[in-house]
Parts: sequence; structure tokens; C-alpha cells
Amino acid sequence: MLPFPKCPVCGGEMASKEVEEIVRGGGNTAIIKVQADVCLHCGERLYTPETIARFESIAARLERKDTGVFKEVGISYSVPATA
Ligand SMILES: [Zn+2]
Repeated sequence: MLPFPKCPVCGGEMASKEVEEIVRGGGNTAIIKVQADVCLHCGERLYTPETIARFESIAARLERKDTGVFKEVGISYSVPATA
């Protein structure tokens, strides 16, 4: 799927998996399930340019709150260092 049969970080074996990625835009957060090549050794994730473009488009939509079909799943918090 990608031009990396081995992990570019550690040289480990890559496997195609469905993963959850968190996308942020304008202080808003979305969780998206995508297909990625994941290193079985260090966990490095590699995405296709199409998937990265999708993240960017979702981040832009989050920024302008164009979240029409997005489903609300909870509230995100930022926790101060003193907590
Ligand atoms: Zn690796």
C-alpha cells in the first residue's frame, strides 16, 4: 500500500491496520478511523497522501465548526499541570 515495506524509523515490519487518529482544528477535536500502515515494533503510523488530505480537510471543518455529519461523542478537556 505504501512505498515502505519496513518502518522508516526503526526498520521494523509494517502491517496495514485500521487505527483511530485524533484530528484537531480551532480547539475542537474529532476522532477518525482510518487505514494506516503501522510498525509492529515501534508503533509508527504511515498514512497515504489521501488520508493526510482527509485529516487536513477535517481539521479545516473543525476550525470553522462545519461539523454537519460529525457525531458528538463527549467533551474534551484540557488539564492544567496542577491537576
Ligand atoms: Zn518502527
